[in-house]
Amino acid sequence: EEDSRIHDIKNRIRVVPNFPKPGIMFQDITTLLLDHKAFKNTIDLFIERYKGKNISVVAGIEARGFIFGPPIALAIGAKFIPMRKPRKLPGEVISEEYVLEYGTDCLEMHVGAVEPNERALVVDDLIATGGTLCAAIRLLERVGAEVVECACVIELPELKGRERLNGKPLYILVESY
Ligand code: AMP
Repeated sequence: EEDSRIHDIKNRIRVVPNFPKPGIMFQDITTLLLDHKAFKNTIDLFIERYKGKNISVVAGIEARGFIFGPPIALAIGAKFIPMRKPRKLPGEVISEEYVLEYGTDCLEMHVGAVEPNERALVVDDLIATGGTLCAAIRLLERVGAEVVECACVIELPELKGRERLNGKPLYILVESY
């Protein structure tokens, strides 16, 4: 049953070669969102894994973590916080830079959104090199939260992003090669 749900989810993700630039196989989850059953199964699989685990905060990463994170947070009784690109959040923030293929990028989180000793789940659509999730983990740990796990719909295993998470567990639904 779980296998058939995951099979269906994988089939609903469109792979677009050479987007947004040559050599990238873009994993497009907008086609998954078009199918109510597959989208619901995606959220349900995460809810089944995280309900009853005392997670107090779900941190969603801009932009597609804002699609998958909130329904999980509502169902497991956690709050939701956005982790955003620079200069988007209006309040006081803390920032973490991370390295990209060319240059660096940065994630920001509102100060005061998470208390010390909270139990956090980090959600995004996809892990590639792991740099983004690593920055999110650092932000949460800087304010004293415990990162219980990271959850993504898709992993690109060849990029070995898992190894950059400093031993934090990573849960994924689908691998793409
Ligand atoms: P990384 O920091 O290298 O793990 O990259 C992960 C972030 O970049 C996620 O927020 C993804 O949405 C996005 N991303 C990276 N590679 C892809 C890809 N091939 N298809 C879709 N999104 C991607």
